[in-house]
Amino acid sequence: MTAQMSGSTSDVVPAPVLKVTRRAERAADHEGDLVARDRRVVWHPYAPPAAAPLFAVAEASGVRLRLTDGRELIDGMSSWWAAIHGYRHPVLDEAAHRQLSAMSHVMFGGLTHEPAVRLAETLVAITPEPLRRVFFGDSGSVAVEVAIKMALQYWTGRGHPRRTRLLTIRRGYHGDTSGAMAVCDPDAGMHHLFSHLLPRHIFAPPPGCAYDEPCEDVHLAEFAALLAEHADEVAAVILEPVVQGTGAMRFYAPGWLARVRALCDEHGVLLIADEIAVGFGRSGELFGCDHAGISPDIMCVGKALTGGYLSLAATLCTDEVADGVAASPVGAFMHGPTFMANPLACAIAQANVELLLDSPWRERVAGLERGLRAGLAPAAALPGVADVRALGAIGVIETREPVDMTVIQPLLVDLGVWVRPFGRLVYTMPPYIMTPADLATLTAAMVEAVARTT
Ligand SMILES: *Cc1c(COP(=O)(O)O)cnc(C)c1O
Repeated sequence: MTAQMSGSTSDVVPAPVLKVTRRAERAADHEGDLVARDRRVVWHPYAPPAAAPLFAVAEASGVRLRLTDGRELIDGMSSWWAAIHGYRHPVLDEAAHRQLSAMSHVMFGGLTHEPAVRLAETLVAITPEPLRRVFFGDSGSVAVEVAIKMALQYWTGRGHPRRTRLLTIRRGYHGDTSGAMAVCDPDAGMHHLFSHLLPRHIFAPPPGCAYDEPCEDVHLAEFAALLAEHADEVAAVILEPVVQGTGAMRFYAPGWLARVRALCDEHGVLLIADEIAVGFGRSGELFGCDHAGISPDIMCVGKALTGGYLSLAATLCTDEVADGVAASPVGAFMHGPTFMANPLACAIAQANVELLLDSPWRERVAGLERGLRAGLAPAAALPGVADVRALGAIGVIETREPVDMTVIQPLLVDLGVWVRPFGRLVYTMPPYIMTPADLATLTAAMVEAVARTT
């Protein structure tokens, strides 16, 4: 690190950009320097201005991340549910290169292109039947905002403008923008920080029936009562089908979801399924809704949509919802991101979905579930552990107390795995291509890290 680079910007003459970049590249050869530079100028998710601990990645391939210090880690996170086929997959690389030579981007207002139309046709074909129209957004949070706005505009179009509230369940996670934040868990989420800004929605308890338990009346009683009480002001129910992801890492009974669908029909309320985390096979079915055999009125997908290559999300809706929006006073749906339906992202997404459907994904995910159950089982006997569970390619160790990230994160890296715990959750959602041997190493490292830190 040179004196010039470490000086504050006010007391040095800025070097020409190119020179600084070359020097920076040399400095990046050394992990310590890259992390130090990062800590001066970069924000990380849910982190103070200088994030710690922090590790520098040089490259990623298959299920491995290689750090700048040469260490290789088995990736247990799929970069937050996204990289389902691992990194640098030749088919996805090829799709990206092919699309680059045609166009990376073109605006979507008044223009269309093959990658967007083809991907929309694919999404309509693989999602539950009544979902027929696709709105492309650039992130999961945007897809949720779009879903909420669709529901509100639908009710304006249908002559019920007072239906503006959402009913959801606690422990949910739907994204970080204002509309999405307002339906995240009110206690664990960001409500207390932004309470002056957020609309007040209605929260029911999370389902009390686990994935393999029957759903009884008692499990649904409070949800049903809240829906009945507020039916004339509720625009939609929004929830994560079967798997409550980031907010809880809990798996609930498909029967509960089926009964919620029936209640929504009974009260004429829309159902929004947020499939952003669980969609594209993660839970063992292609979509979370498929466990219950239900179809929502609006569905959000994101995360794994491009196999982790680029940010892209989509909100699908039925013809009935689209017609209702069209009947609203403005007639148009009022949303339009600059990078809507980015051709590069759409082309990669199309290749990603084809790659998934052409692969034995169901057997792979079932195999991962067995490996996760077997590998994580020893954690159940640890005194600091409250629960161990797995569904599809999702494995969770829930601890009794929140883990100390400054201790467990470097330990996991020393054990050769990339797992990013959160609160009381040490969890993994590996790429579907992970071998049994790598999965065994991954789960053993998780168990050991929990044993040594709780
Ligand atoms: C991650 C996530 C989102 C938000 O997606 P971003 O791309 O991070 O904006 C919304 N809903 C669920 C269920 C998610 O897991």
